[in-house]
Amino acid sequence: MLGKQGAGKGTQAALLTDRYGVEHVSTGDLFRAAAAEGTPAGLEAKEYMDAGELVPDDTVIKLVHEVFTGNFLERGFILDGFPRTLPQAKELDSVLGSEHPLDLVIDLEVPTAIVLDRIAGRRVCENCGATYHVNMPPKSNWTCDICGGRVVQRDDDTEEAVHRRLELYEQETRPVIEFYGELGILAAVDAVGEGDEVFERLVHEIDRRFDPTER
Ligand SMILES: [Zn+2]
Repeated sequence: MLGKQGAGKGTQAALLTDRYGVEHVSTGDLFRAAAAEGTPAGLEAKEYMDAGELVPDDTVIKLVHEVFTGNFLERGFILDGFPRTLPQAKELDSVLGSEHPLDLVIDLEVPTAIVLDRIAGRRVCENCGATYHVNMPPKSNWTCDICGGRVVQRDDDTEEAVHRRLELYEQETRPVIEFYGELGILAAVDAVGEGDEVFERLVHEIDRRFDPTER
């Protein structure tokens, strides 16, 4: 599942996971799991994450080799936030090989102006991570409805920070989208609108390509 930050990848991947009974694999989860297990690539990734940096291709590629094996492949999965760059995509392709190729790559399309509004308006509970928006704040005085924690804007959710990440996305991830387009497995899905509308579009797009009775 590809798409700019704020396109709703995580939300949609979680919904699809339930619907199709596959595993939701976010890059962050992969990295944290590998770091917790103390694998060589996991420890390397942890250093970058602790420093608030993007994990570089070399490390990600090592992780891919550690992670993409056996059971995991048999069960089926949705990748969220990965591959982020062309070298990562090519490496994933060669690790999965012809036995377990990716079935479909979804590009959640959303205009930059909407992404900016979603992210720059986002507020997060410091305590439980619940998310709000300036247009949909908690009931009382930026106090979390769920746990009573303080609801704040994260440092990396400012408009400037979002612009930087969007630029990086165009430079590094746009070629990934083109790569999958050339392989003929890309589906561009309009991600503007309510979450459930977008989900309907995704299900439609998936079901018309794959026969559900074969699952
Ligand atoms: Zn909370």
